Amino acid sequence: MRDDKWLEDKLVVIWKLFFTEIEEKNKVKIRFKGKWKNKFGHIGRKKEESEICVNGLFRHLEVPEWVIELTIAHELVHYMHGFHSDHVKMFRYPHQGGVVRKELIKRGFSIGKEKKWYKEEWLGMYERLKEK
Ligand SMILES: [Zn+2]
Repeated sequence: MRDDKWLEDKLVVIWKLFFTEIEEKNKVKIRFKGKWKNKFGHIGRKKEESEICVNGLFRHLEVPEWVIELTIAHELVHYMHGFHSDHVKMFRYPHQGGVVRKELIKRGFSIGKEKKWYKEEWLGMYERLKEK
């Protein structure tokens, strides 16, 4: 099983590789949380710190790493757009006009395969993993 330390290291790598020019204006913490069926992750705020939560079921090694990487990248886009962070808020709504998707594509992520994975793999995997 993956743990929070693994996830912290992953955040550092993703940030360095894909978001290198984005300043950490306020501290970003990350951890696994919950056993969600319909959500990969979210970003919130705890006082000065931003907190990224990744679906706790993604601790299981059956979940491919690229899903977790994409989840982290998605939440980092919210962070850089000023949602739950000290960055200037760039949009009224976090997903307005597909801004997250556009930003991820611009930064070299391949988008769309997570929808296929969700339907074809995740829903069945979820039923097994939630009992573990
Ligand atoms: Zn989002």
